[in-house]
Amino acid sequence: MTALTTKCLIVGSGPAGYTAALYTSRANLKPIVMEGLTPGGQLTITTEVENFPGYPDGTTGTGLMDDMRRQAERFGADIRSGLVTKFDFSKRPFTAETDSGLTITADTIILATGASARFLGLDDEQKYMGLGVSACATCDGFFYRGKKVAVVGGGDTACEEALYLSNLASQVYLIVRKNYLRASKVMQDRVMARQNIEVLFNTNTTGLYGEEFLEGAHLVEFVGTPQERTIDLPVDGFFLAIGHKPNTEAFASEIELDKDGYVVTDHPHTATNIPGVFAAGDVADPYYRQAITAAGSGCRAALDVERFLAEGA
Ligand code: NDP
Repeated sequence: MTALTTKCLIVGSGPAGYTAALYTSRANLKPIVMEGLTPGGQLTITTEVENFPGYPDGTTGTGLMDDMRRQAERFGADIRSGLVTKFDFSKRPFTAETDSGLTITADTIILATGASARFLGLDDEQKYMGLGVSACATCDGFFYRGKKVAVVGGGDTACEEALYLSNLASQVYLIVRKNYLRASKVMQDRVMARQNIEVLFNTNTTGLYGEEFLEGAHLVEFVGTPQERTIDLPVDGFFLAIGHKPNTEAFASEIELDKDGYVVTDHPHTATNIPGVFAAGDVADPYYRQAITAAGSGCRAALDVERFLAEGA
């Protein structure tokens, strides 16, 4: 078994992880970054990124993450592929074990494992990913100006995404499996008042279709009732908004989580319930979930680590 030692282990390689790596490496903490299952994080499944400051002509999700990675490596961050599967937070230095049998002892840990959008579980979602299917209206909505799109979900996120898209797309269909919206009243009212949003209640998606790009969704209304009927809904974009799941499996038993499963931090700091363990990015953010806010919290976590080590806590 191989063993490594570091002052700071960063778990996750989205904007939060790489920004934390940049700051901790420039502070000479020689961080180790374990990239996790999706090196580069959620941005690598989007196409263009036009809302990250510093890229006036836009960039790609993978391009942005490659840039962040290289910038952190330039200052000596040790970035490794692999997944941390087990932590021991019971004493310092902490230990982490990876899926490749590596043991890392670390004076501090930054958890930046992100969150994953929930998907319906249809094979077609992967088939049309980036070709019409998206889980982020703020990221991809711009590409559907003047087009027809569908949003799946009945919560606040779905309503927010539908409202956002209604300012860009010509028509938005909100596909809701029940006969009511779960979203807050104010969001429901806004959705209902928007002329180009049509809410399709009691409707489930069974598949997607299209030659190269998405051309529509197969829907079924009133499943299992005498009124059951199937519909093909022509849309250019299909947005999932059925919730996010913070990626906490490897540490959920020891790190305090809120009722929705997000890591609780000592706002405005990034400290968790275990001194020396910090959290940054979407794993601790149910609200903003943007690349730029994740990067900002990665910076905050790195500064918190520096202060924690300087205080000899
Ligand atoms: P929620 O869990 O609140 O809602 C998920 C929605 O997706 C529900 O309508 C649910 O349907 C639907 N859904 C889940 N699985 C499926 C499926 N397999 N097929 C079809 N539909 C499905 O998640 P949100 O992301 O909307 O919100 C998370 C939290 O963040 C909430 O507390 C919310 O209030 C908050 N939030 C607040 C905002 C604000 O205040 N501006 C903005 C965004 C989020 P069903 O109702 O049938 O279970």
